[in-house]
Amino acid sequence: PESKLPDVGTSIFSVMSKMAQEHSAINLSQGFPDFEVSTDLIGLVNKYMSNGFNQYAPMPGVPALREQIASMLKSRFNYLANPETEITITSGATEALYNSITALIAPGDEVILFDPAYDSYDPTIRLSGGIPVHLTLKQPDFSIDWDEVEQKVSAQTRMIMINTPHNPTGSVLTGEDMRRLDKIASQHPDLLILSDEVYEHIIFDNFTHASILRYPALADQSIAVFSFGKTFHATGWKVGYVVAPAGIMQEIRKLHQFVTFSVNTAVQLAIAEYLKTESNYTQLPAFYQQKRDLFLDQIKGSGFTPIPCHGTYFQSLSYKEISDRPDMEMAEYLTKTHSIASIPISAFYKSRRDDKILRFCFAKSEETIEKAAKILCRI
Ligand code: PMP
Ligand code: GLN
Repeated sequence: PESKLPDVGTSIFSVMSKMAQEHSAINLSQGFPDFEVSTDLIGLVNKYMSNGFNQYAPMPGVPALREQIASMLKSRFNYLANPETEITITSGATEALYNSITALIAPGDEVILFDPAYDSYDPTIRLSGGIPVHLTLKQPDFSIDWDEVEQKVSAQTRMIMINTPHNPTGSVLTGEDMRRLDKIASQHPDLLILSDEVYEHIIFDNFTHASILRYPALADQSIAVFSFGKTFHATGWKVGYVVAPAGIMQEIRKLHQFVTFSVNTAVQLAIAEYLKTESNYTQLPAFYQQKRDLFLDQIKGSGFTPIPCHGTYFQSLSYKEISDRPDMEMAEYLTKTHSIASIPISAFYKSRRDDKILRFCFAKSEETIEKAAKILCRI
């Protein structure tokens, strides 16, 4: 059959994790923790499974979880979401992104996104007949050039996608970025903002997470996407959620009901209960900042140059001083010869732009971080 996505191969995350496994390399490529989920949370999942919560959840998610999220959104962002109509639990952020784009993008609609961009965005837009308009984040800090965005927004632009904290670079958007975005959105009332905030709690250096939901006028035109996989060290559970005004959510739910219908009931109930204890997520910035700092400290003296990372659990490193190999080759070489796997940043550019930067995941035990850093210091 004719492929709808002829240029799409296997995701770089699968490619690098497989290579890491085959070569018994330390896997700092695909983003997932190598430590365990809290035993309290596992206990709650066990409790609900043992107590018979094993059948379909309501299509938009279990009420207890949606209500708990609404109360969190109010206290964290002063955002009032109606849990009945404005919050939907999805199978990870990936499903939330897919449903949002598929429900709202029609053939010929333009979607502005910023490279390096998370790998699922572009193919999902194209599957709907949308036209991805790839702009480039400005180095050295990987920031958005809002003057350029203003020039590119046209009558065809239906959506702008943002991601803060940003995967893969670790840059974060600020209040000033939101002010510029707000100005653009207010001039284009049909424009939608899709805000990927899966690393909302993993933010450092006294930055505050600039959720789109903190800005009421903007939030009226926005869809915000979150993931419990990052927050609870449980990427394999694939539970996330999407927040949007009721009219937009109605369209997103039309997809959700036929893409997955609903999400794991016991896990939703367990998370709802676990979220009641605020410290279960408020300790994340300090927890991950310590890991980032340990990694940075341990690679001092290596030939790698860190790209400033203020959020996410990824530290990108430039290897310009070490080698002029293309980044895919470098990632392969490090995996096969030095037993350490990373992600080449060119994979996140439509143009395959290669700045000789690799992304390393530091959601790992201190032991793993120290072992990995030792290897990097020898290269
Ligand atoms: N967006 C970004 C920026 C991500 O990094 C990820 C996962 N690493 C996702 C979306 C998908 O999240 P999930 O695993 O919850 O589907
Ligand atoms: N988001 C994770 C990362 O950036 C990977 C998710 C996946 O494997 N699809 O590494």
